[in-house]
Amino acid sequence: MSQVYKTDVCIIGAGPSGAATSLMLTKLKIPHYIVDKSIFPRDKTCGDGLILYAYKAMKILGEELFSSFLEHPKFLHSNKVRLHINSNVHIDFKESENRNIIITYAKRIDFDYFLVHHLSNTYASKDFGNGVKEIETKPDGISIKLKNGKEIFSKIVVGADGAKSIVSRKLAKNKLDSKLMSTFISAYFKDVENIPLENEAEIRLIYKKTLLFFYIFPLIDGQVNVSIGGRSDLIKNSGINLVAEIEDIIKTNKNIKNKFANATKVGSWRGGTIPFYFGNKNIIGDRFLLVGDAAGLANAFYKEGVGTGMMSGIIAAKNIERCLEDNNFSKSSLKKYEADLHKEFGKLLKFSHFSLRMARFKSIFLGIVILSKKIIQLKSYKIIKKRSY
Ligand SMILES: Cc1cc2nc3c(=O)[nH]c(=O)nc-3n(C[C@H](O)[C@H](O)[C@H](O)COP(=O)(O)OP(=O)(O)OC[C@H]3O[C@@H](n4cnc5c(N)ncnc54)[C@H](O)[C@@H]3O)c2cc1C
Repeated sequence: MSQVYKTDVCIIGAGPSGAATSLMLTKLKIPHYIVDKSIFPRDKTCGDGLILYAYKAMKILGEELFSSFLEHPKFLHSNKVRLHINSNVHIDFKESENRNIIITYAKRIDFDYFLVHHLSNTYASKDFGNGVKEIETKPDGISIKLKNGKEIFSKIVVGADGAKSIVSRKLAKNKLDSKLMSTFISAYFKDVENIPLENEAEIRLIYKKTLLFFYIFPLIDGQVNVSIGGRSDLIKNSGINLVAEIEDIIKTNKNIKNKFANATKVGSWRGGTIPFYFGNKNIIGDRFLLVGDAAGLANAFYKEGVGTGMMSGIIAAKNIERCLEDNNFSKSSLKKYEADLHKEFGKLLKFSHFSLRMARFKSIFLGIVILSKKIIQLKSYKIIKKRSY
């Protein structure tokens, strides 16, 4: 019989949410186990844009981490994000006067490795390249069986295993809901021309059979990350083929085609989902809690999932400290975690659902933007100030 490894805390998944949970547990001097099916550096399909909570989370995790992030040679920082509602109307998002970074572009293969590289050798027992195959609640803990036959027995489990989380499916009994997630595809391009000055992030609302969000994020190696997507159920119901759609857009859209006249795609289109079901699904239960994509914490409108995921990891670690002190890992004890998440993200994520619903109606949304551009910019300025670094 194989040996059972016993631990107080086991984090499943070492993406940004799992890594942030581990870094915070380390700050609190709590030994833990962290497993991931991949070996790092590993890639993850993403737009590669880091905003708001990513900065806030890294600052909380430590000034040293934050300054190595700011100085990292593979990350590109910019102080401009422009959301184009149509060819003539746009909104600019700005940092407060004393700061000059609003977005950082970092390929996930580099950013996730950067975080994992900072995991503690003292407090974090790392087990990478080994996926979780089975997970089961027992009276005095949770049994986690890995693909190589190893078993971990933990008092509490953190589900940080992304959009297709096994912890969410098996322990929280959640089912995917295509109304509460987005489907996106993304690819790298080289030789893209006429990138807006100062590496501005270009985001466009594109109205086809349904609303699509189109992103161009420049990277430090001269490539750009191009992505497009929208609400999963609407894309499916309108029969949209995202690859065909984006290839047509970069060839024919009058605001975009000039950038791609001499551009070449590097690699292939890759797809992924972004769940935004927080508030509608189970994210806690006896002896487990979910963070990041597993908890459906991405912003429905602008799709920030890395930062919210990291911040949820920090909040999770603080709650785990309390559960360990009380020796109480029950669902009722973990309700505080859910309440803390609502306090941190509730208003913002609700607003993002509302904005997504409104944006589907092109003329109404355009009218609202034109009438309230100043208020929107002021409101976003306040959001950025409160939820950034
Ligand atoms: C096309 C696209 C573009 C996006 N663009 C942006 C963007 O620009 N900015 C932004 O903030 N967000 C963006 N997102 C969302 C963002 O990628 C996610 O919200 C973010 O990765 C969530 O982090 P996470 O740590 O919760 O999950 P993940 O990053 O998915 O990490 C989960 C980890 O769990 C591991 N894992 C999974 N299953 C198991 C298992 N059974 N056993 C062990 N390990 C397991 C995986 O290997 C992985 O390392 C985008 C998403 C997509 C699909």
